[in-house]
Amino acid sequence: MSPITHFLVGWMAANGGGLQRRDRALVAIAGVIPDVDGLGAPVEVLTKNWERPLAWFSEYHHTFHNVTFAIVCGGLAFALATRRWKTALLVFLSFHLHLLCDLAGARGPDGHQWPIPYLKPFSDAWELTWSGQWALNAWPNFAITGVLLVATFYLAWRRGFSPLEILSSRADQAFVGALQQRFPAPDRS
Ligand SMILES: [Zn+2]
Repeated sequence: MSPITHFLVGWMAANGGGLQRRDRALVAIAGVIPDVDGLGAPVEVLTKNWERPLAWFSEYHHTFHNVTFAIVCGGLAFALATRRWKTALLVFLSFHLHLLCDLAGARGPDGHQWPIPYLKPFSDAWELTWSGQWALNAWPNFAITGVLLVATFYLAWRRGFSPLEILSSRADQAFVGALQQRFPAPDRS
């Protein structure tokens, strides 16, 4: 799924634990962090006409989609968070929701399934795929993203914070204020 969808799934996980701002950010970021192994994509595109192109995307995409990196991220969250255990566990969950979403709907345009090497780098035993996997640009991904956006707006309206808080609390307050003004509700709590 697209980074936006992954992020929104992570944001839902971040909203699940009654966490404070920084801990929420850690959980939300964990929803996209496996795709850092896809950052080689521009390098691959830029060097494709070179004598020896750097196929960083083809070679490395999905190498961080494994339980080892999930544990590393959980450990980092434990070190950085205020509510250490809860945040670390939600980071671990958020990371795994990313893997599940990739299994469900991330088939490449060429039909490649991008198997998930779950036990890397210690073992190649599991290369996870799902035969029902739909394509990256198939309608379920758009539908899921739409539902997640509505849920994100609703939570922002109701709880008074949105993903913008990760970048700037002023932007977040402006956004939430505008939402609450547009849709006033006396019973909002
Ligand atoms: Zn991914």
